[in-house]
Amino acid sequence: MISAMEVYQLLPKTNCKRCGLSTCMAFAVELLRERKAIEDCTPLVEEPKYEEKLEGLRELLAPLLSTETPKTGMVIHEERCFGCGNCVVACPMNVANDPKGTAIGRGPVSDKAILMVEDGVIKCVNVDQCRRFGPEKVVCNACIVTCPARAIEFV
Ligand code: SF4
Ligand code: SF4
Ligand code: SF4
Repeated sequence: MISAMEVYQLLPKTNCKRCGLSTCMAFAVELLRERKAIEDCTPLVEEPKYEEKLEGLRELLAPLLSTETPKTGMVIHEERCFGCGNCVVACPMNVANDPKGTAIGRGPVSDKAILMVEDGVIKCVNVDQCRRFGPEKVVCNACIVTCPARAIEFV
């Protein structure tokens, strides 16, 4: 997962406020939340001395900004998943949305569940219910940390 510190290292670090935020670190956080775009840091895109940093930042954020990556950044490595279901019952939104299934340790019965095992492999559906989705997203790790196979990753 890309950290705000990694992003910060590739910004001008002058806290000039031209992006509308008071510090470059705040901008790094907003970039990761996709509430700001790289182009909002005008010194970075306009001043030749930052060319290398700009290139590095574009490279670092490419997986996050790619249209191939789902909006939560979740990538499932199906070949590693063995269908244990740990992530299904650990997901707080699965539990909240599925009181008669996941919340009591059973397979999901609600059509609002996010994670479910199908044919022995995890599937992510209803991605808009994930806590990482949308502008108010929060960093939730419950499904990653409970997976013994490291089959779930966020980019
Ligand atoms: S415009 Fe760029 S350099 Fe200035 S505070 Fe924002 S992120 Fe930092
Ligand atoms: S990130 Fe959180 S809310 Fe989203 S699927 Fe994983 S455990 Fe559920
Ligand atoms: S992704 Fe991991 S925790 Fe979820 S079912 Fe597959 S192996 Fe189990």
